[in-house]
Amino acid sequence: MTIRLKMFIMLTMIAALTVVTLVVLYIGIKREERLITSNALSQDVLEHSLLLSGGLYRYFMKAYDYMAVPHSLSAAEGDNGRTPTHLQSIEENNSLILDHLERGIREEIAHLEGAEKIEEESELRLLQEIRVAYSESVDDIRQALRLYNAGDQKQALQFLQNTTEVQFKEQLRGLLHTLVEGERREVAEIDAMLITSGERLTILVIATSLFTLALSIFIVGIMMRAITQPVQKLMQGTLAISAGDLSYRIAHDGTETMTGEFSELAKCFNKMAADLMSQRDALLITQSSLERKNTELSIEISERIQAEDKARQHQAQLAHVLRLSTVSEIATSIAHEINNPLSVIINYTRGCERRLVAAGDIDKSALKDVLEQIGAQAERAAKIVRRIRNFSRGVESERVLTNINHIIHDVTLIADFEARQHNIMLRSALSSATLPVVVDRIQINQVLWNLIINAIEAIAGSNSTRREIEISQSRIDEHYAEIAVRDTGPGLSEEDLQRIFDAFFTTKPEGMGMGLAISRSIIESHGGHLWATHNQGPNQGGGLTFRIKLPLAQGAQEGIPHAS
Ligand code: ADP
Repeated sequence: MTIRLKMFIMLTMIAALTVVTLVVLYIGIKREERLITSNALSQDVLEHSLLLSGGLYRYFMKAYDYMAVPHSLSAAEGDNGRTPTHLQSIEENNSLILDHLERGIREEIAHLEGAEKIEEESELRLLQEIRVAYSESVDDIRQALRLYNAGDQKQALQFLQNTTEVQFKEQLRGLLHTLVEGERREVAEIDAMLITSGERLTILVIATSLFTLALSIFIVGIMMRAITQPVQKLMQGTLAISAGDLSYRIAHDGTETMTGEFSELAKCFNKMAADLMSQRDALLITQSSLERKNTELSIEISERIQAEDKARQHQAQLAHVLRLSTVSEIATSIAHEINNPLSVIINYTRGCERRLVAAGDIDKSALKDVLEQIGAQAERAAKIVRRIRNFSRGVESERVLTNINHIIHDVTLIADFEARQHNIMLRSALSSATLPVVVDRIQINQVLWNLIINAIEAIAGSNSTRREIEISQSRIDEHYAEIAVRDTGPGLSEEDLQRIFDAFFTTKPEGMGMGLAISRSIIESHGGHLWATHNQGPNQGGGLTFRIKLPLAQGAQEGIPHAS
């Protein structure tokens, strides 16, 4: 049964009880009203009877007065000062009054006859008796008047006195006595009834109210029980769920308490609990997989840290190699520059020595020693230079067929760490096209590394908001490819830009000014070219772009394997 239906039944029952109570009270009040009305009617009858008695008495007395005048006198002239005319007028007057009184009495009797509201049999019987008694009395008086009018005054008076008066008095007294007694008894009875009825009414009101109240409490109690019990069960379930017991279920089938909407609510609750449980299970699975991933991630991070450590080691090795290479390059150029004059010195010294020996006359031995010394020292210098050149030759450059993509990839892998240290984004726009070159990968790596480190240092030393380095590659034509390193640093003045490739030019306190000079010589030794330009345009972010132009490997096809 639904709650709505239960509530409807409950309210209907309470309303029905109220209606029954009101009906009972109404009936009780109506009954009291009828008693009061009956009592009032009885009193009405009594009043009318008394009125009639008075009227009849007056009628009787007037008839007596009328008949007291001898009838013979009324017809002839009297001797006691009364004239016949005078008597006649008294007689007529009396006759009129008698008629009037009689009519009044008959009207009253008729009025009593019309008292239809009186319903009780005893009252009706009494009323009948009254009417008969009054009618008989009126008829007796009328009989006496007929006798008098027939001229028999004596008999008329006798009739009136003996029959009517006595009879009337006795009858009237008896009737009135009966009436008064009856009424008194009746009033007493009614009063008693009223008291009993009032008590009954009070008892009825109290009993009905108590019964209605008890029944209402009973009905409301049942309804409350039907509502509170399932609510309590639902509350228990909610508390269990909030305490983490997602397996808690509310029994709803075949139970008395869980009916209608509560049964539906319990089903919904159970479904919610089941959903929550499956969601929690899914969450637990996700959590464990997250934990696993987390472990994997921390392993990956530690591997990455190791890789970065390795990269740093590589970087250090690279710097070492760069230094070695720098020494080697310098040595090569020194060897080249010094070797020639040294050769000349040696040649001249030898010639001089030969000529001096041929000329004679000179302390040849002393001069010879000196010249020998010069020659020996020069030889020694040449030997040192040769040794240095031999050393530089020892770091033979090894050129292999490779792809520009791979070179950029290798360098940015290491440089990215350095860039991130300075909050700089290093981007490499690798081309899908293969650009094969035959180069010494270590040297080209050194050049790129040098350019990127310069760019990082330039941005790091500036307040530039855009902190980006972009490395790109492109094919210039069928013979050349280009690598560009663009930065968003502060750039340089035109004057400084012209000098950056000079050996020992530097704007850094700790700088050597050799990096760009060596880089350029490396690129040129590869048949390429290295130069720098200002970044132009509003979106270029200032800074410089260094461009490396390298010859493409001739006849090399895309996808040619390269040395790694
Ligand atoms: P070093 O770095 O030791 O100074 P380099 O030959 O590598 O020597 O550089 C020479 C100079 O060129 C630097 O001192 C610097 O003033 C300038 N330079 C190089 N690269 C940049 C750059 N990306 N932006 C601004 N100036 C640069």
